[in-house]
Amino acid sequence: MEEKMKKKVNIFSNLYKITNEIRKIVEDELVANNFIVTDEFDENADFNIVIGGDGTFIKAVHDSNFSEIPFIGINTGHLGFYNDVHHNEVAETIQKIKNNNYFIHNLRYIDCKVSTDDDIYEFNSLNELVLKAKYTSVLHFNLYVDDVMLESFAGDGVMFSTPSGSTAYNLSAGGAIMYQSIDAFQITPLAPIRSALHRSLDKSLIVPKDTKIKLITRKREDTQFALGIDGLHQEIESINYIDIQLSKNTIQKVVFDKNWFWKNIKEKFI
Ligand code: NAD
Repeated sequence: MEEKMKKKVNIFSNLYKITNEIRKIVEDELVANNFIVTDEFDENADFNIVIGGDGTFIKAVHDSNFSEIPFIGINTGHLGFYNDVHHNEVAETIQKIKNNNYFIHNLRYIDCKVSTDDDIYEFNSLNELVLKAKYTSVLHFNLYVDDVMLESFAGDGVMFSTPSGSTAYNLSAGGAIMYQSIDAFQITPLAPIRSALHRSLDKSLIVPKDTKIKLITRKREDTQFALGIDGLHQEIESINYIDIQLSKNTIQKVVFDKNWFWKNIKEKFI
């Protein structure tokens, strides 16, 4: 009976020495506070704790199949945008979890379907989906927004970024920072060609949550594509079209300070 009352925690971590040390502290502190630490991912757990950097957080979200169990990020990496708890704050953080002293931010992700001659592949991305031409050739596609053909793009590529991914690759590519729980997403061009021959938007476009995007490739001879999902290269080189939407579901990120987003921006980007 008592075991049933205990809250369960899944832990995800990377393999760095510092992370292993912090993981031991986290596990001891959880057990001392009456939590159960699962041996393997339990979909009935109460929390997912991620110890590492942003890459570890993103991997945990993918490995758990975009689990709806609230994620808590403890940073042992460099930037730690998602892992906003400092590794010196483990004990206080576990007390806050125990006392339900936290807020939840719902983070939407991107759902996409990639159609090739042979198959349709489905992906979700927490930060972004990027399409470029393989090697250094120019990428050509038509972009449809809610069935309106908006532009014929020519350039390096395009990125579809979530609000929580807006501070990652999107920011480097000149996109805007979006508050993480806004229900919208962003289309950011990568080096679009602007000339008498090619006309496409050279700024990011922010679209509301129900917008349906269709990207239809315009192939030139043996065009090959490079598709990136949250920084991971996907081995799909021949693409006919991609359907992109903001997810209906969310992942939940636990935050302990309701102003954490502004503090994160100030400390990590300015
Ligand atoms: P990585 O170690 O190569 O990370 C790149 C950097 O992005 C790290 O400093 C990481 O902390 C930071 N980062 C990741 N997500 C972030 C977010 N939501 N907000 C702010 N910073 C964030 O690889 P990783 O840690 O696995 O991250 C993968 C991400 O790297 C991709 O999703 C993509 O956004 C980013 N990336 C950026 C560029 C660029 O800025 N030119 C190029 C490729 C990939």
